[in-house]
Amino acid sequence: MKLAMIGFGQAGGKIVDKFLEYDAETGSNIVRAAVAVNSAKADLMGLENIPQENRVLIGQSRVKGHGVGADNELGAEIAEEDIDEIQGSIDSIPVHEVDAFLVVAGLGGGTGSGGAPVIAKHLKRIYTEPVYGLGVLPGSDEGGIYTLNAARSFQTFVREVDNLLVFDNDSWRQTGESVQSGYDEINSEIVRRFGILFGAGEVREGQEVAESVVDSSEIINTLSGGGVSTVGFAEEEVEESSTGGLLSRFRGSEDTDTGDTAHTTNRITSLVRKATLGRLTLPCETEGTERALLVLAGPSKYLNRKGIERGRKWLEEQTGSMEVRGGDYPIDGSGRVSSVVLLAGVTNVPRIKELQQVAIEAQENIDEIRDESEDNLDNLVSDDSEELDSLF
Ligand code: GDP
Repeated sequence: MKLAMIGFGQAGGKIVDKFLEYDAETGSNIVRAAVAVNSAKADLMGLENIPQENRVLIGQSRVKGHGVGADNELGAEIAEEDIDEIQGSIDSIPVHEVDAFLVVAGLGGGTGSGGAPVIAKHLKRIYTEPVYGLGVLPGSDEGGIYTLNAARSFQTFVREVDNLLVFDNDSWRQTGESVQSGYDEINSEIVRRFGILFGAGEVREGQEVAESVVDSSEIINTLSGGGVSTVGFAEEEVEESSTGGLLSRFRGSEDTDTGDTAHTTNRITSLVRKATLGRLTLPCETEGTERALLVLAGPSKYLNRKGIERGRKWLEEQTGSMEVRGGDYPIDGSGRVSSVVLLAGVTNVPRIKELQQVAIEAQENIDEIRDESEDNLDNLVSDDSEELDSLF
């Protein structure tokens, strides 16, 4: 499907930038338009692929291009004040050619955390296309203020979008890496998963249209109904030769170019299980998921209807949902079969409850320290017997 992407704040901008890179590398054509919005000039300058004219600097009169310093209330305020400037950039998007909007932001900071729900609300008021959010939760080691920001933004963002797709940095962080190179890798992981998911509804040039191919409307229907979504992913390399499977036959592999061997079916069902039971973008209990979509991407000879049908059935049992869609996304020449599982409308998410609990504690702590610090400053500045008079 074709998306208009709006990256809000630093993380949002970088992730949308990465989606453009992915599109160029894979030819998947999912980003019909890309806009970056930020209150920090340096962050906008650091982007590589988003066109200059689509980079919008907001809040100049308030923060002079220096960002909002993790103050997401200020982030929301300046997004509201400068909504016309953001809209100016969105006006250049041929909205009749897009299937949906995707607003991307890190929820722990200031600009994206505060601004993403504001722009989502605005887009929903103006356009009939669905507005989805892609919200990134902070790592638990980032500290109280980031957790508090994320918890408040999450609550607001879910309300304002047609569906909030969540990625949790906490379950993806790797030790021993610099934050920057860590984020680069994490962003590639994000883009790979969501790239396959959204790419599925887009027929590539020269690609045969399989009968069971996933259509944009199936992605939209899975996401409709609102709530919070998470995505699972698994992949396996396969042999692809220009002689159409000759190599694997030669090697005695079960795979042939007919694509419906037991091996092909088993590979698909095992990839569906691995994707669902492995690391999700937002870890959660899969049982109780309202709707799900299964996408099998890869060379068409390695995709078969039987495997997808079995995977779909297994997913129905696993989630207890009666609304599980599935189909394929033929990508010849990729050299791998990938399975992406979208679990939409998940409700049993311990990580969110934990985030909220830590956020409440952080809020109480901040209030307490603020009260105490007023008293402490008072004690420090005024002399005990109040003999001194201020100048004015
Ligand atoms: P903003 O510019 O004020 O919106 O704030 P940032 O986007 O810099 O940071 C918000 C949060 O996003 C941070 O607390 C991190 O958890 C996360 N973050 C920042 N940069 C990246 C990134 O490149 N990738 C990912 N996945 N998360 C990021």
